[in-house]
Amino acid sequence: MARIGIITCSNMTNDMACSSFGCLQDSHTGKGKFAQYADRGGAQVVGIISCSGCPTLIAPEKIVRRVRTLVASGVDAIHFAYCMERICPFKKKYRSLLQKEFPKIEFVSGTHEMPDEGHAAEIDQFVKKALCQQNLSMADVFGK
Ligand code: SF4
Repeated sequence: MARIGIITCSNMTNDMACSSFGCLQDSHTGKGKFAQYADRGGAQVVGIISCSGCPTLIAPEKIVRRVRTLVASGVDAIHFAYCMERICPFKKKYRSLLQKEFPKIEFVSGTHEMPDEGHAAEIDQFVKKALCQQNLSMADVFGK
């Protein structure tokens, strides 16, 4: 069985409280990007960790510390979760520096089955609305 790590977008894990349910479900059933492990007895997800948040333009290397934990867990491959693949502007930079840092690890784009483009666009709009929703703050007191 292939030992798999997953790295997620911290916006989705922390702000949106995503439990990685879709990624885990498809890893169990061998769907989506986990289908490639059928001839190895399937995928065993041994760790999930979110990215380290905004790396700024000068420090994309900050993600290495997070991924090192997955590598130390003895993974064969690390998947960039669907959320990262869909919305992360740093994914190419992350991919190239992680592959250089951990040359024995296979880095894979995506996790669960892709929604069709129409549904994906709907999810994008939902995520945007949720991330930008306004909670009450002291500004509401000052405004009165
Ligand atoms: S750096 Fe990418 S993966 Fe991390 S929170 Fe930002 S968009 Fe998400």
